[in-house]
Amino acid sequence: MERKKIYLSSPTMHGDEQRFVQEAFDTNWVAPLGPNVNAFEKELEGYAGCGHAAALSSGTAALHLATILSGVKQGDIVFAQSLTFSASVNPACYEKAKLVFIDSEPDTWNMDPVALKKAFEKYPHPVAVIAVHLYGTPAKIDEIAAICREHGVLLIEDAAESLSSTFKGQMTGTFGDFGIYSFNGNKIITTSGGGMLAAKDVAIIERARFLSTQARDPARHYQHSVIGYNYRMSNIVAGIGRGQLLHLEEHKAKKQAIYRQYREAFADIPQIAMNPMNPDGDANNWLSCMTIAPGCAVTPDQIMDALAAQNIESRPIWKPMHLQPVFADCDFVQAVEGKSVSEDIFDRGLCLPSDIKNTAEDMELIISIVREQFGKK
Ligand SMILES: *Cc1c(COP(=O)(O)O)cnc(C)c1O
Repeated sequence: MERKKIYLSSPTMHGDEQRFVQEAFDTNWVAPLGPNVNAFEKELEGYAGCGHAAALSSGTAALHLATILSGVKQGDIVFAQSLTFSASVNPACYEKAKLVFIDSEPDTWNMDPVALKKAFEKYPHPVAVIAVHLYGTPAKIDEIAAICREHGVLLIEDAAESLSSTFKGQMTGTFGDFGIYSFNGNKIITTSGGGMLAAKDVAIIERARFLSTQARDPARHYQHSVIGYNYRMSNIVAGIGRGQLLHLEEHKAKKQAIYRQYREAFADIPQIAMNPMNPDGDANNWLSCMTIAPGCAVTPDQIMDALAAQNIESRPIWKPMHLQPVFADCDFVQAVEGKSVSEDIFDRGLCLPSDIKNTAEDMELIISIVREQFGKK
């Protein structure tokens, strides 16, 4: 029999989710909107301290509405972190913006404030900046926000991977003009699919709710003055979210324990470095990642293959956007010339299995397979 599969990061349900979903069924509140949607928004607002939030069908939808609400129009320049998942930047393309990619710094793997400053020298008038907290590690978000403020440019903070991570005690997703969360299947909490757009200004969030429900003017007949979207979260999905939110801190503690276990298990192998933590932050460690020292003969592919042979899922680091064929025409700004930090992380790194349902035996197996690649017992 094949070994049971060990996942990178799969949904972990607790039963509370079913209670809220059952309530929705019992009251026949299955259709979009309803009490779970309102309550999920309120509960997330309370948890994250993010001001106001609109529950949407995905994190990508939240990013798209943030792009629209930032006023991004055809040909406008948008700065975006290069080292990220494509969903961070695709919505800017829906609005036909011109993306300029910004390199990462090695301290947190996120947008380099030095490169961001250089980008402003080259392109003084972008319309928005998209920064990410990759793998749950808080970016140098105070510096990034200060640079954006100085230039009067809106900051879209993609916290899709970092819900519950804090920077200087403040939740990620609350530093930008817009914060984005995702509840996709493999995120730290999941609603099967869903997202949230957060902002301090209630009028902005009300506008987001309006756009996400087909932009119907307040008239009895169906009248529309702007283009709308079908981006609202359903009452069933929001019920799952309410149940998951009750267990978010528990998920975070388990993710952090996984990271610590890997770090300790590889401490005697100088060729392995775990993904860096921001000393000013408390990361949710959504995914634990490692890099292999330059010059070492072991490759990320070799480790991923060895894990896959035992039915264990792992994943390469996100391929930077400036290296993607679809973005070949976009400019890319780095702090210093030469091989970019993001490309270097991509070349030498991989994401280790970070599923909170991993047993002690699962973790031992993963660790022993990785150690074996470096000739260690
Ligand atoms: C998952 C993710 C998204 C997209 O969220 P969806 O809910 O899947 O649309 C956006 N940005 C980053 C960095 C992500 O990891």
